[in-house]
Amino acid sequence: MKIGFIGLGNMGQHMARHVLEGGHDLTVFDLTRDAGRPLEEAGATWANSPAEAARDAEIVFTSLPLPANVLEVATGEGGVLSAISPGAVFVDLSTIDPDTAVTLDAAVRAAGAHALDSPVSGGTGGADRGDLCLMVGGDREVFERVTPVLNLIGDGEKLVYCGGIGTGSICKLANNLVGLSTGVIISEAFGMAMKAGVDARTLYDVITASSGDSAALRGWESSILEGNFEPGFMVDLAAKDVGLATQLGRSLGLPMEAANIAQQRFIEAQRRGWGRDATPAIARIQEERAGVEFRFPESDSESED
Ligand code: NAD
Repeated sequence: MKIGFIGLGNMGQHMARHVLEGGHDLTVFDLTRDAGRPLEEAGATWANSPAEAARDAEIVFTSLPLPANVLEVATGEGGVLSAISPGAVFVDLSTIDPDTAVTLDAAVRAAGAHALDSPVSGGTGGADRGDLCLMVGGDREVFERVTPVLNLIGDGEKLVYCGGIGTGSICKLANNLVGLSTGVIISEAFGMAMKAGVDARTLYDVITASSGDSAALRGWESSILEGNFEPGFMVDLAAKDVGLATQLGRSLGLPMEAANIAQQRFIEAQRRGWGRDATPAIARIQEERAGVEFRFPESDSESED
């Protein structure tokens, strides 16, 4: 198939690569020219605009930071919808709010094409391995038509049809609210236990073997516990996701006290200038309060040598 892919960042570069390796004719675009080079070397074609990436494509993917970026790339000047073919499928892989997904769907339909909201979960590791979870909203028949291509970037077992347009985004916001607010409580647990005298390795081993285990804590193993804040998944994007979840709750008239407390922690991390660090960087706020650093003991790395 001829496929367009727009947004070649931490996630998109890997997902686009899997589409290309699946044997498809891939055209790519990103605001950053260099983001496309490895894909070009692997056989993809560079486009000079979203419209060029979408021209004659049967599927157009976007993986972009914010809802506003997705709307701009779709409906702006030189955007996807100025060139999309009738009957083509626009699959947005970004994490956006369901209202934006519905707005996008209406614009895509007006252009004679189909839209799916298909946010992903599994981080850059899952994107690299091609075993992401994809949660998909839109017409089931359209979903089934593009399933073979979605399976290139996700693990078939974790490809979930969620319902009508916007439902993928609702599921994604719910999932990330759980994962990201768990990180806030983990930082409080580490602050408490380490200040009281237990080292990070002991605590990590105990919790990962116990009822407090979580993907969020597992994600700490190669990041904050090793003093590594390379993203991965940036604080700015996490703050966006928790913000979209609390905004959705508010629009439903639904109090979500804990989610709003978690959101404040992300806003504080951004205020401190850590927006482009990996998400576990928010725990540094609690490190300061506790007066300890959440790091594995030096003896850990020595014993591995
Ligand atoms: P990123 O910032 O690394 O990549 C985004 C890319 O989009 C960048 O290369 C940027 O240059 C490009 N871009 C921005 N605006 C553009 C525009 N107008 N036209 C063309 N390109 C544009 O972000 P990411 O981590 O790859 O995340 C992408 C999306 O996936 C986000 O919505 C994020 O919330 C979601 N997500 C990320 C992760 C993760 O672990 N990083 C996991 C799941 C979901």
